[in-house]
Amino acid sequence: MKSSYIIFNIIVGLYVATGSSDWGYWGDHGPAQWQGLCATGKKQSPINIVPEKTEKADLGALKFVRYDYAFSGNITNNGHSVQIQLIGLPIQLEGGSLPYTYILEQIHFHWPAEHTVDGDRDALEVHFVHYNEQYENVTVASQHEDGIAVVATLFELDYEDNEGITPIVEATELVSKWVGKSTAKMRSKVIPDLLLPKDHTTYYRYSGSLTTPGCQESVTWLILTEKLTISEQQLKVFKNIGTDNGTLSFNYRPVQALGGRKVHHRLDGYSLATVPRSNLFFTLFSFLFIKLLLS
Ligand SMILES: [Zn+2]
Repeated sequence: MKSSYIIFNIIVGLYVATGSSDWGYWGDHGPAQWQGLCATGKKQSPINIVPEKTEKADLGALKFVRYDYAFSGNITNNGHSVQIQLIGLPIQLEGGSLPYTYILEQIHFHWPAEHTVDGDRDALEVHFVHYNEQYENVTVASQHEDGIAVVATLFELDYEDNEGITPIVEATELVSKWVGKSTAKMRSKVIPDLLLPKDHTTYYRYSGSLTTPGCQESVTWLILTEKLTISEQQLKVFKNIGTDNGTLSFNYRPVQALGGRKVHHRLDGYSLATVPRSNLFFTLFSFLFIKLLLS
């Protein structure tokens, strides 16, 4: 009798510690109440990106390794988001001035988007969470400044369905009806590339944090400039996710102060150093001279 009581208590304890009821997106458990670094950090995410204030630089192209393969996957409704874990060979991220190779851990979604651009909030944002291969796993990596790299794609609303994300929308539907935590094997394979815009060459980069508690400041954020689209009908599936706290109609954290941080905008081939001032002057002069001749 006594031992079963103790076991019961341990199980309840574990549930409370890891359960989805200790933080959320609204009410008494909303972002304003999140504790620890979420409240005290100085490099928090998400942020509002102001393209005009970004520092343009060629940080190099991002290299998406095996993003074009088709993977089997599991999809989970964890009460805060829909998360996909792919099975098989490691999927990796390199380049973009990242100091190491990063391994894809999971893919999840926020609706509407967490990062805003010039104050505009898109309909959906996907996060590809990678951890530095120097570390044992994503939990260990999240304790280090260079531990995590997240690639984000923004989706804007469109009249047409985005066929590329149909398998994911269908899989999301599978776990959306189940209240609380649930995992399902995805019926069709996932090609991660389909969640990336065609143009990978241009992106914003800044140092920030996880956007969920404990908000560890270990993330290099890489937000692709080009967007994908999603229809209202497809978006509805995400907005109808059932959790034990009710329907998860939204799951974004409000934007955080940029502080002294810099946001870089990677542009292919862009480098101030390769265009000497005199050259620029000469180009401008020739242009004016030709214009004068033609007028
Ligand atoms: Zn996220």
